[in-house]
Amino acid sequence: MIGCGNPKVEIENTPELSEKVYSGPLLNGDTLLSHVRSQIDFGPRNPGSKGHTACKDYLIAFFSSRADSAFIQSFKTTVYGKSYEMANIVASFSPEKKERILLCAHWDTRPFADEDKDASNRTSPILGANDGASGVAVLMGIAEVLYKNKPDIGIDIILFDGEDIGLSGDQDGFFQGSRYAAKQYPLPKPKYGILLDLVGDIDAEFRYEPISQQAHAVLVDKIWSIAKKRQSPYFLYEVGNAVSDDHVMLNEHGIRTINIIDVNLVGNISTNPRRTYWHTSNDNLSNISGKTMSDVGNILLDFIFTTSDSVY
Ligand SMILES: [Zn+2]
Repeated sequence: MIGCGNPKVEIENTPELSEKVYSGPLLNGDTLLSHVRSQIDFGPRNPGSKGHTACKDYLIAFFSSRADSAFIQSFKTTVYGKSYEMANIVASFSPEKKERILLCAHWDTRPFADEDKDASNRTSPILGANDGASGVAVLMGIAEVLYKNKPDIGIDIILFDGEDIGLSGDQDGFFQGSRYAAKQYPLPKPKYGILLDLVGDIDAEFRYEPISQQAHAVLVDKIWSIAKKRQSPYFLYEVGNAVSDDHVMLNEHGIRTINIIDVNLVGNISTNPRRTYWHTSNDNLSNISGKTMSDVGNILLDFIFTTSDSVY
């Protein structure tokens, strides 16, 4: 994802508490950490790499054994004159249900650490523990819950390929998988979508993201109100920077999608020196917390089972 300005709009309404109580299964942080590890064990997962192929096989096997149906939406695309085989990984729960929501993340990792402080690292691919693996890990955890617990609505998970292959500042190079899926949607359309990106940092800060608010303000409020109810320390009730990400592609094609993203990582603008590893060789396990990921996943589970059917 790439940053795109800071409108600093103040929020007038404070989130209200949700009335229904979620008493279903909760995600375990250690399990989610193991889901990050199982991805980064393949090494960098940029399109065209060995790790990309191996991780794709691993993820499709994982979701095939949990979802009612899982398949690969494959497509060829040319980026900067080079041709790539790409794969969006699609998993569907309760496909017979008409009312559906989309949960998504990108599973590819960046082919070059172009933000690295050490110039000699800038042409090497990143490991993407947070930028890629964390969002996928949360959705793997949610898939494990949905395998045995069926909400009233249908849930679709799409893991996008080729999100991070673009050159800095060039919108057209990024978001290959979501761009393709938005045009050739591989399933019946959902009523809305929720994107996860950079959701694993130890000191994560999830602010309201302006493009998400524009897309579906009620949905943003509901998610943040559940975060407040669950007393997650990572959700802040203030507006952060807008960010170009996969949700923009979906919104452009009528699938209203919000983004849960630790946006101050983007552009390395955090005042915490540890949190300046975005698009660098330091995007590794040392920055990742199971607690952050389980908070995000449990907020989503709470939302799915208590609230999702009342949001349109
Ligand atoms: Zn990225």
